Amino acid sequence: MLNVVLIGPPGVGKGTQAVMLAEKLEMLHISTGDMLRAAIRSGSELGKKVEAVLAAGELVSDDLMVNLIRERLESEEARAGWLLDGFPRTVAQAEALQELLDEIDQTIHAVVEMTIPDEVILERLTGRLTCRSCGATTHVSRVPDGLESACPVCREKTLFIRDDDREETIRTRLEVYRHSTDPVVQVLGRHYPLRKVSGHGTPEEVGTRLRDVLG
Ligand SMILES: [Zn+2]
Repeated sequence: MLNVVLIGPPGVGKGTQAVMLAEKLEMLHISTGDMLRAAIRSGSELGKKVEAVLAAGELVSDDLMVNLIRERLESEEARAGWLLDGFPRTVAQAEALQELLDEIDQTIHAVVEMTIPDEVILERLTGRLTCRSCGATTHVSRVPDGLESACPVCREKTLFIRDDDREETIRTRLEVYRHSTDPVVQVLGRHYPLRKVSGHGTPEEVGTRLRDVLG
């Protein structure tokens, strides 16, 4: 059994890797986004709280998040190991997680930080085009005439660059990520084994590298 926390910047392919890794190693994949949606669907007391918070346009508090994670970590499905993806994002959350694990007598066997040069992320993310008509996304390298190309899905000539995909926005997100994540990695690294894995290459190459460091 293996308990892992996966950390990585936007654009590194963390979500894809988390799904692949959890499947290969038969771990419970706990992604905070999925977890919040599942809690709401379940109609549990916690789920109702989450729904009210989100409906009010507020952020889910650390306490609430930790309680949801506790439910997942103590569930039957987590017995064979778990992979936490998207949490913790702040030092306060890292400390709360550590407290929770001590309380329920569990540990983290590896904190895995996926790394990649900013320039590679910029290259990956800045070329993304979105279709205004059908919502499909593609990459500038896969269409013949850039923004003037027809959408590969609906054939309308309505491709545009979302604000989120602009270089300045991505640079800012990377700075915010680094600023908040470096201390999180430091806190977790004091208590649990820390591994760094390059996110460079194809999803398969990165997947192999991840499984290698996890033994
Ligand atoms: Zn389209």
